[in-house]
Amino acid sequence: MHIVLLGAPGAGKGTQADTLCEKFNLVHVASGDLFREAASAGTELGKKAKSYMEKGLLVPDDITISLIKEKVDGLGTAKGVLLDGFPRTLEQAKALDKNLEVRGKKVDKAVFINVSSDELLRRLSGRWICRQCQAPYHMQSAPPRVAGRCDKCGGELYQRADDTADTVKKRLEVYFAQTSPLIDYYRQKGKLVEVKGEGDPRVVGKGMLKALSGTKQE
Ligand code: AMP
Repeated sequence: MHIVLLGAPGAGKGTQADTLCEKFNLVHVASGDLFREAASAGTELGKKAKSYMEKGLLVPDDITISLIKEKVDGLGTAKGVLLDGFPRTLEQAKALDKNLEVRGKKVDKAVFINVSSDELLRRLSGRWICRQCQAPYHMQSAPPRVAGRCDKCGGELYQRADDTADTVKKRLEVYFAQTSPLIDYYRQKGKLVEVKGEGDPRVVGKGMLKALSGTKQE
């Protein structure tokens, strides 16, 4: 089974990804995490990606498509995959369909977490993330119990370099211009599952699983 997780930056994709992976026994592949890992390792790909990420822009399709293809192909077929943050353009979506088709697979569902722009801005501007387990916190509405430390694993919390006010604005602009057309792409294929993403993340997660009930694991 292959699920695509759609939603703007700050919609809560990372949080809901854990719920989906657990429920459907999927491997979590997050394109943003792969780019951040490559950037901190200082690889050629990482350096290139960093120059786009810093500006809040998308990494070019050719680089992104081959990175994800390599990752997904490397996982084999034993388990399904949850794609988080990929695809983000129509070209990426078409490349994904083609790559899965060659292996006799398909995107089964596209889960779209819908959150208003005001709420996205609020969330991203106060967001801190655990360096170890990636758990998200919000300095006003969901602070950690101990300042600067993750409640779950004790890891150090940090603010992403692209969560600054100007970059957040750019990332949202890019999302609405380049990524939101994918909602219609998957709707037309009858694969879209839309979930309201505001409120308690556990309630959002339950709503999402309910909307997916009846989806068979293949
Ligand atoms: P994320 O962690 O998903 O918010 O991604 C962080 C950054 O990585 C984005 O702002 C882009 O610069 C880059 N990125 C992640 N996924 C993609 C993608 N599918 N296509 C192009 N760029 C991406």
